[in-house]
Order: sequence, then structure tokens, then C-alpha cells
Amino acid sequence: MNTQPYAEPWRIKMVEPLEILTREERIEKIRETEFNLFNLNAEDVYIDLLTDSGTGAMSDRQWSALMMGNESYGGSPSFRRLKETITELLGFPHVVPTHQGRAAENVLFSAMLKPGNVVPGNAHFDTTKGHIEFRNAIALDCTVDEASDINDHGPFKGNVDISKLRAGINKYGVENIPFMVLTVTCNSGGGQPVSMQNISEVAQVCREHKIPLFFDSARFAENAYFIKMREDGYQDKSIREIVKEMYSYADAMTMSAKKDGIVNMGGFIAMHDEELYRQCCTFNIMFEGYISYGGMSGRDMEALATGLMEGTEFEYLQARISQVAYLGAEICKLGIPIIRPTGGHAVYVDAKAFFPQIPQTEYPAQVLGVALYEEAGVRGVEIGTVLADRDPVTREERLPKMELLRLAIPRRVYTNNHMDVVAWGLKQIWEKRESYRGLKIKYEAPIMRHFTATFEQI
Ligand SMILES: *Cc1c(COP(=O)(O)O)cnc(C)c1O
Repeated sequence: MNTQPYAEPWRIKMVEPLEILTREERIEKIRETEFNLFNLNAEDVYIDLLTDSGTGAMSDRQWSALMMGNESYGGSPSFRRLKETITELLGFPHVVPTHQGRAAENVLFSAMLKPGNVVPGNAHFDTTKGHIEFRNAIALDCTVDEASDINDHGPFKGNVDISKLRAGINKYGVENIPFMVLTVTCNSGGGQPVSMQNISEVAQVCREHKIPLFFDSARFAENAYFIKMREDGYQDKSIREIVKEMYSYADAMTMSAKKDGIVNMGGFIAMHDEELYRQCCTFNIMFEGYISYGGMSGRDMEALATGLMEGTEFEYLQARISQVAYLGAEICKLGIPIIRPTGGHAVYVDAKAFFPQIPQTEYPAQVLGVALYEEAGVRGVEIGTVLADRDPVTREERLPKMELLRLAIPRRVYTNNHMDVVAWGLKQIWEKRESYRGLKIKYEAPIMRHFTATFEQI
């Protein structure tokens, strides 16, 4: 073959040296945390795939933009630049800056949600669900069934099941549904995208019932990339054209800029409706900061404006999503079961199939996470029974359908050589998989136990 090999559209200008502990040292470190991956010191981790949130590498242009930050309390040109970028890219005339995504949810939901309300969506993200349930409202999941089928290789497993959505509206009544949240890409479902076709059908149902449609937008550019690559009629459109079309269906959006904004901190709300903008401004001033900075400094807003443009370039997205696909393919080659196709930001290893001898009540995905740290210094995160927590009423453990180890890849941070180390680490465990035993919980907090739980080996 005479085609030129693929390589990333950048070179490295600054490096952050990493320390690599020995296997014996790591075994000791993870025992010191009592098998809790969150509590490891970050310097003791070689390749950190805990999250892709706020962990990306900024470009030279973003670092230069920081110097242009105007730190005025009111009327900062850095805010105007961010706002103009958002209006140009996504089409919304009004922008409310916040310090991160969950803050955007807090402000918007404070303006829109009342106790007893119902918010349909496609597997709401944890903080979204948290902010809904905290207001004594219900997050109604209408994701397609394929989303939780590990053997389904469909191209758009983040889609909404339109019949579930219609049934939900009929059951609860439009008067109780102040808005719907569509998450692009669908994080809880493995970073799986939503098709343009599905977006337009969802918007049609919402219009019929006059339900405002909000997009939870953390990975909107990754979603647009999948539309370009997988959906008929979009091959020749640019990412920005696709993004514009996606957002032509939305009434408002919340954004965690720590993902596709390629910044370490930041977020915003954007909307068409002026009255909603005014209401959000009031809550923003109470919770976040004045309407022209809302929890970000001027320099953060400059870096974000630049990051949003870089994050919607095809070449950048191709490098990013190809790297996720590369890691997925390397793991598959070993015969290790993962969710396929790989999504935009992470590879999810099926720990139930990896360790069939470990019952779900003994946390196979946590066992795999601990083992991967011990073998290769790689940190992933459990998305399984520990995360699913106990039923708030019965206090029984909720056993989720899937028991996963998530390996989330930071943007522009690691090379494919690092991905090879991750796959190699999994291979070491795979070859002696029968020898692993489960964990039992020693300490757990009453809610959100996964952050602080400690374990002992059985
Ligand atoms: C990360 C994320 C959020 C919350 O954003 P933070 O910046 O972490 O507060 C909300 N929704 C989705 C889909 C996310 O991925």
C-alpha cells in the first residue's frame, strides 16, 4: 500500500515528565488507599484515564489567549469574545457563563424546575439527574434499548426511543414537563452519539407538545464528528455546519466546557428566549458571579473561546476519536470484551465477562480497576455496582445491567504508545484472569459512596 500513514495534526512543545513506580510500589500504594482509585496521589499514576473532564492539553493559541484576559468585573471584552464565539458556532444570542457544567444545570434548573416535574432525556448524566432529583423532580430515561446491550454494535446508541418519549409525555402530562434534556454525546451510555435524524424527531415531538428542548452539550463536537462519519448525507459537511444544524433544533443548552471546550475549567448556558435569559441571570448572580464572568476569570473565557473553535475542527476530532478507537481495537484484538463501537471519549471494558467467577456483589469492575493500576500504573474508573449505590428506600444494592471499567482519554495528552501500555496491562490481567477474587466494602458513605468507599480483598 502506498498511502501515507496517519499522524496527529500537531507536535509537542512542552512536556510534563511522569514518574513510573514499580509494580511492587503500586501494589503498596493501592493498599494504602484501601483499593480506592480516587484516593491515589496523582503522581503515583503513570497513565491517568480517570476522566476526560478538565484534563485536556491547551494549545499554544489557548495559552496565548490567556494573556489577553480582561479581568474587569463588568463589561469584559473577554466575555464578549466568548459570547460572540458561542453565537457564531451554536446560534444562541444569549450566553450565561458559569464555572462548570453542573453550575449551568443548577442555574437553569433553578429557573425552570418545580417539585413533581418530570424531565425526559437519554440517560441523564449523574449531575443532571442529581440536580433534577434534588428539586424533587423525576429524570425519565427514554434511551433506546440497544444502549444497554453490549452486543449491539449500532452507530447511534445514544438515541432517544421516540415511543418511550411519547408514552412518558402521555403518562405524566405536558403540564408537568417543563423541558426535555438531550445529552450529546450520551455519557452514561458509553459516549454514544445521537443521530441528526433522531435529534429532528425528538424536536418534532417536543414542538408538538410545546416542550422546550435543551441540549446537555459537554461533547457536542464529538457527536457532530460521528454524524459526519456515520450518517447518510453528512460526509461532505464540515463539523461546524453539522453543529449549526444540530443546534437549530435546540431552545437552550448547558455546557461543561471541560470536555469539548478543551479547557481545564468552565461552562455556560446559552438560549434563544430573552425572558429565560433574564431569569437565569438572577440565579447566576446569586450562585456563580456577575453575568459577564459567572465563575470564570477573563483569561478562562479567552482560552475557552479559542478552545471552542479548535474543538470543532475536523482534524482535531479525527485525531481524538481515532485514538479512542485505536485503544478499543487493541483491546479487542486480545479477545477482551468492550462496549462496541467505541464512543467518543472512552473505552468501556466489560468486567462481568472479564471475571465471570466474581459475582456483581463483589465488584468485578473495581477489581479490574485495581488490577490495571497494579499491573501498568493506569487509572480507570468503575462504572458498575459501586457507582450504582444502594436504593435510597430499601438500602439494597442496585445491580446495574452492565459492570464496566471506564478508560476515559484526556484530549491531546497521551500518545498511542501510552495506549499500547494500557492494552498491555489488560493483557497481563487477562492471562491470569481466573486467579482474581472479589472485594468487599469496608466503609461506604450514605450517598455517592464510590468517591470515598474503601474495600478489602475476599
Ligand atoms: C461532565 C458533564 C456534566 C457536568 O459538568 P461538570 O463540568 O463536571 O460540572 C454534565 N453533563 C455531561 C454530559 C457531562 O459529561
